[in-house]
Amino acid sequence: MNNGGYYIMQNYKKIQYNGHNDVILRITPGHFITPHSHVNYYMDLCDTKARMKEARATGEALAEMYLASDVIDTILCLNGMEVVGAYMGDKLTQAGIISLNSHKTMYITQPEYNVNGQMMFRDNNKHMISGKKVLILIDSATTGGTLLTALNSVRFYQGEIVGISAVFSIATQIDSIPIRALFTQRDFPDYASFPQDGCKLCKEGVPIDAICNGFGYSTFEQ
Ligand SMILES: [Zn+2]
Repeated sequence: MNNGGYYIMQNYKKIQYNGHNDVILRITPGHFITPHSHVNYYMDLCDTKARMKEARATGEALAEMYLASDVIDTILCLNGMEVVGAYMGDKLTQAGIISLNSHKTMYITQPEYNVNGQMMFRDNNKHMISGKKVLILIDSATTGGTLLTALNSVRFYQGEIVGISAVFSIATQIDSIPIRALFTQRDFPDYASFPQDGCKLCKEGVPIDAICNGFGYSTFEQ
């Protein structure tokens, strides 16, 4: 049996953030399909999101970039970033960042997606966005498609976006809102993202290793 897919995905390299042992990006070169693009590296952020020590270190490192903020009411977590978001909120609160919510504590929340991929907040959740200062937290931002959906949704519910925080981002801003990321293209300069209908690797006939999204990857080989 060919176990190539598994082997490929285990064969990752680690990049460490600025001397923090537990803030790690695991990357595997190859040819991958993401929800909005084809990319030549897969970034595995599953342990970042779920392993407590890594999630805490990542949340605290992200919080350090916002210690000069005035008010953050809500951290809106995309792609399963809630655990990291909770540690980030905790660090910000300890550092004296205030929230103007009635109980003086931040909301750490996530959106609901409908079948059309629109981001919604039900009537019992929308007070976390409406009239609030919202920091958006995402795992990785490549094409910006998910972030744009989030910006539109937060604005629709009349929230004010105070920043965008990412573990990895290629862009430095979107819709003139700065993106502050722990890892950028500087950390692996040959990273490339292609539109689904114009992928250089597909044109060259490079086989696809896996299809991936915020939950992880799925290979075609058994
Ligand atoms: Zn491709």
